[in-house]
Amino acid sequence: MSVAAAPQLLDFQHTYADALEGLYVPWQGAVAPEPRLLVLNDALARELGADPEALRAPEGVAALAGSVAPAGSRPIAMAYSGHQFGSLSPRLGDGRALLLGEVLDVEGRRRDLHLKGSGRTPFARGGDGKAVVGPMLREHVVGEAMHALGIPTTRALAVVATGERVRRETSLPGAVLARIAASHLRVGTFQYASLTGNVELVRRLADYAIARHHPDAAAADNPYLSLLASVVDVQAALIARWMSVAFVHGVMNSDNMTISGETIDYGPCAFMEAFDPAATFSSIDHGGRYAYGMQPALAQWNLARLAETLLPLVADDQESAVAAVTPVLESWWTRYDAAFLDRLRAKLGLGGDDGGDDELDATLVADLLGLLRADRVDFTTFFRAAAATLRGDRARDARGLLLSLPAWDAWEARWRERLGEAGRSDAGAAATADAMDAINPVYIPRNHAVEDALTAATVGDLAPLTRLVDAVTHPFVERADLADLAAPGPEDDIYVTYCGT
Ligand code: AMP
Ligand code: MG
Repeated sequence: MSVAAAPQLLDFQHTYADALEGLYVPWQGAVAPEPRLLVLNDALARELGADPEALRAPEGVAALAGSVAPAGSRPIAMAYSGHQFGSLSPRLGDGRALLLGEVLDVEGRRRDLHLKGSGRTPFARGGDGKAVVGPMLREHVVGEAMHALGIPTTRALAVVATGERVRRETSLPGAVLARIAASHLRVGTFQYASLTGNVELVRRLADYAIARHHPDAAAADNPYLSLLASVVDVQAALIARWMSVAFVHGVMNSDNMTISGETIDYGPCAFMEAFDPAATFSSIDHGGRYAYGMQPALAQWNLARLAETLLPLVADDQESAVAAVTPVLESWWTRYDAAFLDRLRAKLGLGGDDGGDDELDATLVADLLGLLRADRVDFTTFFRAAAATLRGDRARDARGLLLSLPAWDAWEARWRERLGEAGRSDAGAAATADAMDAINPVYIPRNHAVEDALTAATVGDLAPLTRLVDAVTHPFVERADLADLAAPGPEDDIYVTYCGT
């Protein structure tokens, strides 16, 4: 691989590599025998200031596969630790991934370009360093859906098939995902820095995280405590958004939680259909640790792990440091509850500033979720049907989805009364229904549709995937020809996702 062949694709910068020696290893990608572009996100490429045609050219595809380092890139495998299902793995890191560098996008935002599936690195442990087509395309579909729903997320710039067979339970086609993120700083990155015992490294990492993601913290009395509070804030907002679309991440290990507040590492994730807080989908989540309803508590648990790493920076003695971080961690529930209530109110056509009482509205929401759970109502369908209820559309209204009708009628009456007090019923009902439809999706990546699309893509037919991506990237406008993608899968079809490796 000669330097002269390195394609000029993006204007790379390397603030992470420059500032954080000790938290990465310079490395090279493995050569993909026959790289073939499966997906290129043209709009995202342009957002990064890249020319989609240059990325589509053979040199561009080779670079996206990790075979050739593009001009100006400095590939590194990033180091991190993580609590996986509650137990600490001190040395995880990019076992099969590389950060190529950072790019300032057209709006001046710093974004990482990162490859996943680009071969073994010093962090690979027993792994083969590879990724396969299905799970990498899943990351693409789900990431684009989340983005279209307004949920902060990493995004796929491209998925390239490597032309190599990868051994899993069966032999599968290999792939590399090129991923864009606000950064790849994880809770686990702080854990790794902390475990080195070098407090100055933790400080450098915290200063870097403040400058890159939470600049307001720099001016606070205690910048590191303020950093923690900012991460608590962005994660509370993020998890509330997941919960408001019934998203189950599946592996909320501390290495899969960002400092930026973006969703990262879509492995065995799924969108829940019939509402059930105990729902899990991951084949490896036996105890239901990362069930839908557990996610807020688990996020707080991970943030406590972040807080532990910051203790030496927060105060000189451990006792004062613990006293300082404890109320910040405890503020999780206030922040999360407020963010969740805000989302659920909006889904129901209500606002926080329309005269409602927080406690009464929270009870209204909780009672609704109790009804949805009791009758196993499809969460996504329900909120579109609720708008139909306001329009008086009997054929599609929410009542038709519920089984315990007296309980529903009582709840509907309370909801209508609350809407009435806010001036959102009667004459305002149509506008309220429209506002609900503008934020309650028709199309989410439903498990049956994702599975069908990935199965077809794995044997070379990308048409179902393209159709699904089209639906979930325009989630709010119903289209007659996409009716099958709006419908839940068969109830008795127990959906299980595998770890995606
Ligand atoms: P994940 O479950 O994808 O979040 O990955 C957890 C850890 O396992 C990370 O350190 C990954 O880099 C590593 N890992 C996962 N799959 C592989 C693989 N096939 N080869 C090497 N490392 C892997
Ligand atoms: Mg991960």
